[in-house]
Amino acid sequence: MSGVTHLSPSGLATWRQCPREWWHKYVDGWPEYPPSEEMLRGTIVHAAVEALFPVGPVKPPTKADIDYRLSVAHDEADKTPITSDPGEFYETCRASLHSAVERLSKLDEVLLVEEELRAWGNWGLEFYGFVDMVARKGRLVFVIDLKTGSPPKPHTPWCEDQIMEKLIQPALYFAVLAEQGWEVHAYGLLFAPHDAPSQLLLGPPNPHGESEVAAAMWDEAVLAIDRQIRSESPPEARPSALCGWCPHVDRCPSGEAVVRERWRLNKSVGPAREALGL
Ligand code: SF4
Repeated sequence: MSGVTHLSPSGLATWRQCPREWWHKYVDGWPEYPPSEEMLRGTIVHAAVEALFPVGPVKPPTKADIDYRLSVAHDEADKTPITSDPGEFYETCRASLHSAVERLSKLDEVLLVEEELRAWGNWGLEFYGFVDMVARKGRLVFVIDLKTGSPPKPHTPWCEDQIMEKLIQPALYFAVLAEQGWEVHAYGLLFAPHDAPSQLLLGPPNPHGESEVAAAMWDEAVLAIDRQIRSESPPEARPSALCGWCPHVDRCPSGEAVVRERWRLNKSVGPAREALGL
C-alpha cells in the first residue's frame, strides 16, 4: 500500500505537470529541496495576512498593525533558506505585505481565512487543502488564492492553458465550497509581489462552469493515481523545462537529459545546475 490518503490542489498541479515527480514526492517520500527564499516570503506574508484579516468585517489595518504582524510572522518563520541580505529580505516581505493589504482592505467582510477544507474521497483519496481566503465585497463572495510571486507580465498574458493551470487551485476550492452549500460567485489569484504592482487575476465569467472543469480534472487525476498505485509501479516521466526545478532530477535520466540540453543552449535550469554539477 502506498499510504497516500489525500490529494491537495498543489498535489494535483504536480501530478498534471509530471506524474513521476508526484510519485517520488508522495509515494516514495523522496526529499524535496528546502523552501526557497520566495516560498519563505510567501509563508511570512500569508501568516501576517491571516492575522491582519480575521473572519468578520474588514478593518483596514494601520501601518503599525502591519509592521507588528510582519515582525511576528517573520520571527516565527524558519529562515534557514535565506541566502541574501536578511535586511533586504525583510523589506521584500514588507513590500509584498503592503501590496496585499492595499487590495484586501477594499473587501467588506472576511468569511474564511486559511481554512482547512476536506471533501469528496473518490477512490479512497480525499480532497484536502487550505483555502487562503473567502471574502465578500458588496453582494459578491470571492474565493481568493494569494500569491507573492510575479503576475503575468503586461502585454504577454498567459495562454488559456496556462491560466487554467494557475487558476485550478482556487477553482477547486470554489467547487468544494459550492458543493458544501456556500453561495460563491467568483474565484481568482491575488498577486502581491514585492517588486511589481499587485494584480488580481479572476477566473472566467462563468466560475461554476470552470470549477466543474477543475473538479473533473481532479476526478480524472484521482482515478489515474488509483490505477497507478494499484499497479505498484511509478508512472511515466513527463520531462519539460520545469525539470530544472524538480528535486529528483539527479535520479531521472529523461529529466536530466532535458536539463543538460537547456544548459547547452544557455537556458535557465534552476537548482538542477547544482544538483547535476553543471
Ligand atoms: S526530472 Fe522532470 S521528468 Fe523527471 S521526475 Fe522530475 S519533473 Fe518529471
